[in-house]
Amino acid sequence: MTFDHDLKASVRTIPDYPKPGIMFRDITTLLADARAFRRAVDELVNPWAGNKIDKVAGMEARGFIIGGAVAHQLSAGFVPIRKKGKLPHTTVRIAYSLEYGIDEMEMHVDAIQPGERVILVDDLIATGGTAEGAVKLLRQIGANVVAACFIVDLPELGGAAKLRAMDIPVRTLMTFD
Ligand code: 5GP
Repeated sequence: MTFDHDLKASVRTIPDYPKPGIMFRDITTLLADARAFRRAVDELVNPWAGNKIDKVAGMEARGFIIGGAVAHQLSAGFVPIRKKGKLPHTTVRIAYSLEYGIDEMEMHVDAIQPGERVILVDDLIATGGTAEGAVKLLRQIGANVVAACFIVDLPELGGAAKLRAMDIPVRTLMTFD
């Protein structure tokens, strides 16, 4: 993990959002800061520069913004993983756990070919429920998930450890308690 004070300072914290007691880490301020956004994308792709990555898969919705930039940088394709009912073609679907209850996510069945090397991208990992669901979905269609990257890690919630236990190398740029 790379600790970068300036990058961390570009993330805004909103107390009590979306409900009392939650400290929401707002990355829109990082995205709006040209230098911070470029730095974050550069740092995320660093370990894979020169490696062949076929696809970047990004999770709705902030994973689309970061994942698109990462895919461009790696000369890879981009694949959206969406909440159910949003994709027009035939999909594969999986249930995943949220803090309270479960939801379902989908991707197009033909978005990734078996054996393709895929990096998963989202803005933040907390409990890891969302990313775990995405890894299972990607593996279900035969993708080789070579890594997962997040700008922010909330390590106390255990998500990064959960992914590492699934043999996924995890890259994050900063942590918050
Ligand atoms: P997890 O499934 O790991 O518990 O939660 C991660 C998902 O919830 C990610 O898709 C992330 O965008 C969203 N999320 C949860 N908490 C925060 C937060 O404090 N800030 C941001 N930007 N996203 C969050």
